[in-house]
Amino acid sequence: MNAAIIWDEAYAEHATGAHPEGADRISAVVDHLRTTDLWPRLTVAAPEAATEDDILLVHTRLHLNTVKRAAAGGGSWLDPDTHVSPRSYEIALLSAGGAIEATRLWDRGLVSFALIRPPGHHATPDRAMGFCLFDNVAIAAARLLAEGFERIAIIDWDVHHGNGTQAAFYDEPRVLFVSLHQWPHYPGSGFFNECGEGDALGRTVNLPLPSGSTNADYAHAFEAVVEPVVRQFAPQAILVSAGQDIHRDDPLGSMLVTEAGFADMALRCVRLAREFCEDRLAFVLEGGYDRDATARAVEAVLRAVADETAPAMAAEGTERAAAAIARARETQAAYWAL
Ligand SMILES: [Zn+2]
Repeated sequence: MNAAIIWDEAYAEHATGAHPEGADRISAVVDHLRTTDLWPRLTVAAPEAATEDDILLVHTRLHLNTVKRAAAGGGSWLDPDTHVSPRSYEIALLSAGGAIEATRLWDRGLVSFALIRPPGHHATPDRAMGFCLFDNVAIAAARLLAEGFERIAIIDWDVHHGNGTQAAFYDEPRVLFVSLHQWPHYPGSGFFNECGEGDALGRTVNLPLPSGSTNADYAHAFEAVVEPVVRQFAPQAILVSAGQDIHRDDPLGSMLVTEAGFADMALRCVRLAREFCEDRLAFVLEGGYDRDATARAVEAVLRAVADETAPAMAAEGTERAAAAIARARETQAAYWAL
């Protein structure tokens, strides 16, 4: 597949000070990619800012105004982790716009990695939290629904549970939300029994995994739960909340995923998108706080997209993860043939 990145220098203008989600996160990834032999093969696209109407597809007017006013007032902390600086409202619109742009590039035959910040998947419909102001991936998915898509899968491999995305679509049967995350960990949601509600029962799939989960554990989770559920759902598009904080070098997570593991998961997504979605696949950056590790993880994903191969990796999983995966499978067997 032809691979692209979406990026804007302005993402550094969301100023967070001395914070893990710092202003240099995106430029560190792009600077690294420039040094690789992959760079000449990448299309580099710039995002357009999302509109207020886009944000309101997911968020309340009150929440939008809270972020807007906090920025206009010179900045403030919306929760103990989540800072708004004077430019943060505009940059948050540009971040959501980056996720939307990743779905636009499908028309040019490109599979994109939207290298955006602030991240999004903790922002719930009515509040900012966990470094996130607006839920970028949810907004991109909601735009697709508004345009007539009927089945969208969101796969969230960030080390933290994507509580905001889950909340946005908990009763929405047109969206399948699958989250793999460290448990117990921030924000505390994402247990096995959170499965959606009403017509959307079974459309939320949580895989809370123990700390220390490995490449092979994630591959096992894909094989045992993620892939069979996605196949049965038969999505028309796949969006990946690609949090690179499952990397073994990440300071905010305790997982042991390496570049080979990221490539393996990305390739699995590529194959699902080929099978069901006419290659409509997009990766959207969420977390990832070790600058080098995040950059190498992004490179691994883009290589898997561009080359449609992944390096071999050790096949040994852990017993603790296997037990969690078995439990998720048992829970989801009420809704899917597993
Ligand atoms: Zn995270």
